[in-house]
Amino acid sequence: MTGGSWDELLLDRPRLHTRAFLKVQDGCSHFCSYCIVPYVRGRPVSRNVNDAVEEAERIVRSGCPEIVLTGVHLGLHEDLPVLVRRIGSIEGLKRLRFGSIEPFAVDGELLDAIAKTETFCRHLHLPLQSGDDSVLAAMRRGYTTGGFREITDNIRDKLGNEIHLSTDLMVGFPGEDEEAFEKSIKFIKDIGFGKVHVFNYSPREGTDAALMQCPPEKDVRKRMERALSTAETLHRDYCSRWIGKEVEILVEEKTEGIVRGLTRN
Ligand code: SF4
Repeated sequence: MTGGSWDELLLDRPRLHTRAFLKVQDGCSHFCSYCIVPYVRGRPVSRNVNDAVEEAERIVRSGCPEIVLTGVHLGLHEDLPVLVRRIGSIEGLKRLRFGSIEPFAVDGELLDAIAKTETFCRHLHLPLQSGDDSVLAAMRRGYTTGGFREITDNIRDKLGNEIHLSTDLMVGFPGEDEEAFEKSIKFIKDIGFGKVHVFNYSPREGTDAALMQCPPEKDVRKRMERALSTAETLHRDYCSRWIGKEVEILVEEKTEGIVRGLTRN
């Protein structure tokens, strides 16, 4: 455990046909300026590795081929590399992945564990939030764009260029002007993200950012449109890399001769 204790009632693993979500971490002590989570969910707690592995074994025995490890701030799990190695090597498991992981939690040891775990999917979701250094500082994200780029370079060095990097982009944070927004657009293109989840900032009462001045609504609306269309283009570009290639999917739906499912990326 880190700080507090693991509460079994916090387990949250809705099962889909092919994928199970296994929560192994809760709480956060990072205190991004816009986020209420550290106040409401409390200090970070890690699920005991043996318990998590046993749960994962039960999931695999039930016939589910893919496990997604989740947490409020998954990177704060105190033994994440061990968890990756042990769950990733469960007999019968076909795929392991993370729901989302803060970029600053992706260190050499974790990348090493992922690289050596064959079942780990070549996909990481790294929430960026902004591509402008002054906005990132106001958000208290704990990295600069230069630091973020270093992390993604390391990831590609270790896990290969085919890896799908997806992200979250927050539009309209206090202090974001046109120039800062354009930097974000350029940055998400430069990094070459695949899927970008775009959403507009909304203040959470009780956070520091809620006391800051937001950009005018009409500007935010226009930025949202531009960010969404950039996200669509990036996603199309990433997906088009796979046209004509044979890839393994886990089938989730079959309707009128059309088969849908997720690849490992
Ligand atoms: S955004 Fe994530 S890292 Fe930041 S305070 Fe909230 S839970 Fe923690």
